[in-house]
Amino acid sequence: MTNLEHQYVNGQPKRGGGKVHTLVNPATGLPIEEIAYATADDVDAAVQAAGKAFLSWSRLTPATRSEHLHALANQMSLKVPVFAALETKQTGKTIRMSTEFDVPGSLDNIRFFAGAARNRQGLAAGQYMDGTTSMTRREALGVIGSIAPWNYPLQMAVWKILPAIAAGNTIVLKPSELTPGTAWLLADCAAAAGLPDGVLNVVVGSGRETGEAIVNHKSVAMVSFTGSTAVGRHIMGMASQSAKRVHLELGGKAPFVVFDDADIEAAARGAVAASTINGGQDCTAATRAYVHDSVFDHFTGRVAELMDRMIVGDPTDPSTDMGSLISVNHRDRVAGFVDRARQTGATVLSGGYKPELEGAFYRPTLIVGAPQNSEAVQDEIFGPVLTALRFSNDTEAISLANDTEYGLAASAWTSDVDRAMRASDEIEAGCVWINDHIPLVSDMPHGGVKASGFGKDMSIYALEEYTSVKHVMINHDKRPSKAWHGTVFKENRPPSERQ
Ligand code: NAD
Repeated sequence: MTNLEHQYVNGQPKRGGGKVHTLVNPATGLPIEEIAYATADDVDAAVQAAGKAFLSWSRLTPATRSEHLHALANQMSLKVPVFAALETKQTGKTIRMSTEFDVPGSLDNIRFFAGAARNRQGLAAGQYMDGTTSMTRREALGVIGSIAPWNYPLQMAVWKILPAIAAGNTIVLKPSELTPGTAWLLADCAAAAGLPDGVLNVVVGSGRETGEAIVNHKSVAMVSFTGSTAVGRHIMGMASQSAKRVHLELGGKAPFVVFDDADIEAAARGAVAASTINGGQDCTAATRAYVHDSVFDHFTGRVAELMDRMIVGDPTDPSTDMGSLISVNHRDRVAGFVDRARQTGATVLSGGYKPELEGAFYRPTLIVGAPQNSEAVQDEIFGPVLTALRFSNDTEAISLANDTEYGLAASAWTSDVDRAMRASDEIEAGCVWINDHIPLVSDMPHGGVKASGFGKDMSIYALEEYTSVKHVMINHDKRPSKAWHGTVFKENRPPSERQ
């Protein structure tokens, strides 16, 4: 990025008309670059470009759109190390994570939707009323306003953009103002791959100004948002003014239920990986372990041991296990939850402090004994913090797992298939893992229930999110009076019924 041209509108980099802000590397505290934010006028220009592009993009055959998306994936695959290094620089996540998880996951998602573009599904055309043929058309909606968070900047951008454009829509994406780099690079790859101008526009700026200008723009057909529940609720309120469609992927507080018949070594390793991945800044991260009384000490002891061993530090060093959090402010917010849990009598078995490092670092942390109704167990901390509580029977375990406003993801650890089936049935979440926690695949849906939002990312269901279904009915009866007209015109009824 040069010359403060951080907006990507109509296939061109462009400088935003708003105030200039400094982007900071959270692992070093050093400035990365200056960003001129997008104003409402910049958002309007992006929406106009997307609206114009929609007229032709939505009319392309699925095969042609699919070719464009494959070309984007091919272009991006030439720059994997550049994407990975930038993702690490702007987020503080480890280079291992960026290289092995974020970038390949994004590429796989693009390739999935390049294929899915050609796989629209619906009811069979047929005669559902005498003398007629009915069929459905799945149609793109128009300009989609997408707003994304900072935790997986590239993956979240891809999850928002790809199903929408595969279905024939065009996009104005606002990445988080803390992490705009890789979304910009994606738009640049799209331009280099020959994606028509205006199909993918990126505007960078604050939520209040740039984000709200997208949500309130009259030519935006739908708002697709990934972020916190509080902002999601606010966006839903604004969108209701124009009855815009919304798609909300919100916060989570995933339970991690360990039954007495579980493989405790596997569960402990799973818990550490799933609570510290991406610095715990993952909406599906394991945050609340519920562990059967008989295996509680064994499980928590092993989790603490594994957490103690983790190397926290320079995210660019391939031997680092966990990098920094997104900002010093956010790290201090995480530390505040742990300090208050201590004050209320909970015990910290591992971590619970800031290491002696410059930057937004925090140790992986295990808290036991925080009450079920305390903020450490109920609120989204969004850091590498796992709480653990005991249960004594299956009904209690499931009831504790469901006792939160969120419902994004959950896991159950057991060697009993009936228990696994009961847990997957009764836990209120968009995804339930059995004997694992975290992996998602492009082919399967992701999205929550309750305060975690609604709508699906990934999979063929995401294509449906970005389309509407139109019913087309053809009446083959050439006579001016149709059979059903008798319900309106008396003369269409048999003579005996005309009085
Ligand atoms: P956030 O809600 O603060 O911000 C998300 C995005 O919304 C950012 O781009 C921000 O600039 C924008 N925004 C903020 N205020 C806005 C407003 N008034 N109008 C329009 N846009 C506005 O979230 P965050 O801190 O960036 O991300 C962390 C949150 O995201 C966590 O709650 C996490 O659980 C959630 N998340 C959910 C999923 C999921 O799939 N459900 C995935 C990743 C992250």
